[in-house]
Amino acid sequence: EKLARFHEAHPDLFKRHPGELAAYPDQEKYLFYQTKKEQPIIAGAEGIYMWDTRGKQYLDGCSGAVVNNIGHGNRRVIAAVERQSRQTFFAYRTQFENRPSQELARQLVEHSAPHLNRVFFVSGGSEAVESAMKVCRQYFFNLGEGSRYKFVSRVPAYHGSTLGALSLTSYAPLEVAFKPLVRDNPKIPAPTCYRCVYHKQYPDCELECAWALEKTVLEQGPDNIAAFVVEPVGGASTGALVPPDEYFGIIQHICRKYGIFLVLDEVMTGFGRTGKLFAYEHWGVQADVVALSKGIASGYYPLGAILTTDEIVDVVVRRGGFAHGHTYAGNPMACAVGQEVLRVIMEDKLPENADRMGKILLKGLNRLGRKHRFIGEVRGLGLLTALELVRDPQTREPFPPEWNAAMLLTDNAFADGLLIYPRRSINGLYGDHVLVAPPLIVREAQIAELLEKLDKALTRTADHLNALETT
Ligand code: PMP
Repeated sequence: EKLARFHEAHPDLFKRHPGELAAYPDQEKYLFYQTKKEQPIIAGAEGIYMWDTRGKQYLDGCSGAVVNNIGHGNRRVIAAVERQSRQTFFAYRTQFENRPSQELARQLVEHSAPHLNRVFFVSGGSEAVESAMKVCRQYFFNLGEGSRYKFVSRVPAYHGSTLGALSLTSYAPLEVAFKPLVRDNPKIPAPTCYRCVYHKQYPDCELECAWALEKTVLEQGPDNIAAFVVEPVGGASTGALVPPDEYFGIIQHICRKYGIFLVLDEVMTGFGRTGKLFAYEHWGVQADVVALSKGIASGYYPLGAILTTDEIVDVVVRRGGFAHGHTYAGNPMACAVGQEVLRVIMEDKLPENADRMGKILLKGLNRLGRKHRFIGEVRGLGLLTALELVRDPQTREPFPPEWNAAMLLTDNAFADGLLIYPRRSINGLYGDHVLVAPPLIVREAQIAELLEKLDKALTRTADHLNALETT
């Protein structure tokens, strides 16, 4: 009721561009996405900036959905697409090998941990997670351990929207319509230290959330578990959730003790995003399978991959082959793009830039955190950062989900030409957050511009939230 009154009092607030939108009356007629709002139409993009068809400029402060690591309009990638288009866009992988997929696989093996030396290509993040799950399942099946069919993951988590990946994802709004899921996989709490589910404080907590893995494995029976699946730094669902330093040591120990695979979902964290090429490098984690997408082709083409070990592939491939695959997997154009993107990332030292610029960004965000009372926590690693929004910084009480505070801030930023990535609070259990994750090519002056725009959007959002409080 209160919200309805607020909507009535502020009719324009929940629209993106009142006035501008009249220009695109038909745009929602054929396409249906999750958004209910009308949106401007993209006209061009260069570096960290984008423009719509009315000439309005946007600073891409979240790389789309944390995808565009190398920035927009990269000439080298455009040239690579032109080169490859003269040869072929597509050749089916059971009929022809193709040089770009062979070469990209070689590059990935060269730049990843020494034990990760096998590659399987797909076309996106959810497909990569599905492939990771299935390669683990088939490995155990081939060894006569088919009872290992369950996967443990965390709450909250985001691992994708296909039904298998969704069974690892813990984000109620995306799940309710699809219950019962293909399988309700067991979950453990993520290390959400800002709102610890055990009401403890690090380091006195002794990382109960990591040891929860052992408890769950024993409850489910170790012989029933194939793998633990986890994002090294929580992304869309948890908002740049960086684990305590000891976290992955404990997780690795438990996985080894019970013969469970460790699957790292680096779909968002890979390719320099956190200040290292892969986030596992921060803690020396030895994963059995790594799922990749987003930054791998930085939005220039759909591409994903899993990296895994000889041991897993030998058991899977030597006994009948991996019973899995997608039509577009390993296609020459996607892999030619991936090759050039990876060269740009390495030659332009983008992980190093993400590390340097990430520190400057975090410092600026912390400054905004001190200025704006409703920023509960600032967190992140490299250029994967987030603000958690709270109604009361003392009690850390989240805003009511129906206020959609993260979307309010995102819309205010959008109106000022700044893109950030929102996530609504879940049933009041976790706070709203926004991700701030610009392309890894960002420079110091552009970070200052981003922070200035964000400051303005935060001020306006504070007014709107105050109005909501007093309506
Ligand atoms: N895993 C993680 C960690 C992600 O962030 C995402 C996408 N946000 C996915 C998987 C799914 O990727 P896609 O949307 O390409 O299917």
